[in-house]
Amino acid sequence: MVENCIFCKINARKIPAAVVAENDQVFVIKDINPKAPLHYLIIPKKHVVDMQSLQADELPLIAEMSAMAQQLSKTDAAHHDFRIVINNGHAAGQRVFHLHMHYLAGNILPE
Ligand code: AMP
Ligand code: ZN
Repeated sequence: MVENCIFCKINARKIPAAVVAENDQVFVIKDINPKAPLHYLIIPKKHVVDMQSLQADELPLIAEMSAMAQQLSKTDAAHHDFRIVINNGHAAGQRVFHLHMHYLAGNILPE
């Protein structure tokens, strides 16, 4: 738990969020400002800033996040297809500096 990290606070249930799935490694919330009909954030429970700072022994977290994306796509047949986005670093659009995958689904995704 890192002080002043919004995703650590959500994981610790110190601030509320719409948690849609969870296991021992990752949790999933609805994005508060959705950019697609379905917009989830897949977040490791461990505080990792971004992919650049991932240590070798933390790389399995990416697999855990990917497995969660697979699971999410199976739960809603109408939204089977999805897009994954990971913004890494401020210049790439990252605004919350706790690693997360954006899971975007629905029929209005632009090319
Ligand atoms: P990024 O720009 O890749 O760091 O994405 C951060 C995302 O977190 C944005 O899409 C925000 O809408 C979302 N977000 C920020 N605060 C919250 C919150 N309290 N609950 C849910 N989503 C949030
Ligand atoms: Zn954090």
